[in-house]
Amino acid sequence: MVIGIIGAGIAGLTAGKILAQKGHEVIVIEKSRGFGGRLSTRYAGEDLKIKVDHGAPYIQCKGEEFTSFVAEMQGKGILEPWTDSFSFFNDDGFFEQHPSREKIMSYMAPNGMNKIGQDLSRWVDFRSGKQVGGITTVASGSRRKRPWILNMTDISVLEVDALIMAVPAVQASGLLQTSQDETPVRALHVKTSTIGYDSIFTLMASFGDREVPEWKGIACDHEVLGFISNESSKRDNGELTLVAHANANFSHRHRDSPKDIVEQLMTKAMSEVLGSWAETPYWSQVHFWRYGRAKNFIDAPFLESTYDEAPLALIGDYFQGNSVESAYISGKRLAEHWLTKLPI
Ligand SMILES: Cc1cc2nc3c(=O)[nH]c(=O)nc-3n(C[C@H](O)[C@H](O)[C@H](O)COP(=O)(O)OP(=O)(O)OC[C@H]3O[C@@H](n4cnc5c(N)ncnc54)[C@H](O)[C@@H]3O)c2cc1C
Repeated sequence: MVIGIIGAGIAGLTAGKILAQKGHEVIVIEKSRGFGGRLSTRYAGEDLKIKVDHGAPYIQCKGEEFTSFVAEMQGKGILEPWTDSFSFFNDDGFFEQHPSREKIMSYMAPNGMNKIGQDLSRWVDFRSGKQVGGITTVASGSRRKRPWILNMTDISVLEVDALIMAVPAVQASGLLQTSQDETPVRALHVKTSTIGYDSIFTLMASFGDREVPEWKGIACDHEVLGFISNESSKRDNGELTLVAHANANFSHRHRDSPKDIVEQLMTKAMSEVLGSWAETPYWSQVHFWRYGRAKNFIDAPFLESTYDEAPLALIGDYFQGNSVESAYISGKRLAEHWLTKLPI
């Protein structure tokens, strides 16, 4: 079968790899240039030599299946243990070790988080820089051979036998609404439309040849910041590079503010945590994650339409969590289910 997957995050690429390994023809459509979705790496600075993870800074494992996946990625040199406890900052100051958080290993990607997506994408036909603007089911009896048509925003189309939406719930809702089709698709829309997201502003900043601090990451109880990642403790960027993630309240309050104002506020906040030197980065950039982390979840590993003539399923982190692990498990569960259900 030709299976179309919208979204090259870890959920879409995990499902795609499993289905392709068993003989399905899998085409993954991704609107941005790279793979990995929110597991992403920005190339910055002069000659784009600097790599910073501006999405998820680290990965943690709870269950056995994801622990095995992380071990596989370690075997390939894509992931490495980073730290089992982050530092902490609040009104009382800086603490080397978080005073109350349980120790758990966090893994980082020495060559950038996007290497995970790059590795998974080797099994599929990956088409980047293409955005799906709408979906149509083909009426039975039509001359078209495949039941789904994906309409791209560049007006090209792609026909597939089965469709997986591996995008944040709000974006999945928008795509489902473009379908002319009835009840089975609408029923999925009703469920995805209940999911909300916290937005996240992310500040990437570099500080030249300043000494790299000992700490790996700082969990912040601060009115602006939630976490600061020491990217230079993951890889030698040639200069000290830090990434600060704003908390949900600040990001929501400033969602319509100009980026240069947000950049100023976040730089000032970073200097409150780290010291006045952090107020004058050599370069900095802000990224806005509109759909940063799901606030509520669907209590199932995936959703599927009941209309078997045009198979359609939704996967992603918002199924049973809001983490890299929940996205991986969602993609894996659906792929295992479709291997038993759909003919090759
Ligand atoms: C700043 C930040 C920090 C985070 N920190 C952590 C952390 O520490 N630990 C953790 O476990 N998780 C963290 N997360 C969450 C984690 O990154 C996500 O849960 C996970 O990566 C989501 O994977 P996914 O495959 O479900 O979706 P995504 O990674 O969002 O992938 C969806 C893909 O679909 C593409 N797309 C969307 N619409 C279309 C369309 N119409 N056509 C084509 N392509 C489309 C998008 O471009 C994207 O690449 C963080 C997230 C952010 C933003």
